[in-house]
Amino acid sequence: MEIDVQTAISWLNKANEKMQAEKDYLTKLDQETGDGDHGINMARGFSEVENKIANGNYETCADVFKDTAMTLMSKIGGASGPLYGTAFLRLSTALKGQDPVDEKAFAQGVQAALEGIQQRGKASVGEKTMVDVWQPIAAYLQETSAIEAAQLEKIAKEAMEATKDLIATKGRAAYFKERSKGAIDPGAASSFYLFSALAEVLKE
Ligand code: ADP
Ligand code: MG
Ligand code: MG
Repeated sequence: MEIDVQTAISWLNKANEKMQAEKDYLTKLDQETGDGDHGINMARGFSEVENKIANGNYETCADVFKDTAMTLMSKIGGASGPLYGTAFLRLSTALKGQDPVDEKAFAQGVQAALEGIQQRGKASVGEKTMVDVWQPIAAYLQETSAIEAAQLEKIAKEAMEATKDLIATKGRAAYFKERSKGAIDPGAASSFYLFSALAEVLKE
């Protein structure tokens, strides 16, 4: 498997499709443990990303990810904008100048993205945030020698579902304390859609 400019664009377009389709669901999750805007944030951010990259002329996937990062940072008001923005910026920096990108380099890029999210948000695994999806995905990509789309999707899905039993200690959901238990974390859910979009593109 290799990732090139076209794979990157297809991934982000597919991610946008999912964020639009799941907008109400993501908002519902954020009504349970936050301020009810995560669906709006994601749908707006990724629709702006799709518009932005449709008009770009890219030589490397790092350039696509850089525009993605800048767009997410500037168009999403909530906590998730800078976090996803940082993730794509780190991914872009890690892959700079390479195209196509092989699995190993991509895995290192996702690891760098995870570290960016953690530096920015100061959350570790188990705090009921998007980190709980990004961490097992980064680990899987690094340990596998051949990425399997079905496996990628399964890991992301299980990781998202596992946030249900956690008590939030970071972000707005932390104000809900024990009451945050029982609901899937919205950012973990949107991260699942992001990686399931990648899995679908890799299957094609
Ligand atoms: P806001 O909370 O500002 O309204 P969103 O609703 O768009 O922003 O995003 C909320 C999501 O962002 C959470 O569900 C969580 O996954 C993620 N998040 C919030 N704070 C942090 C943090 N410090 N570290 C990692 N992820 C975080
Ligand atoms: Mg919110
Ligand atoms: Mg908000």
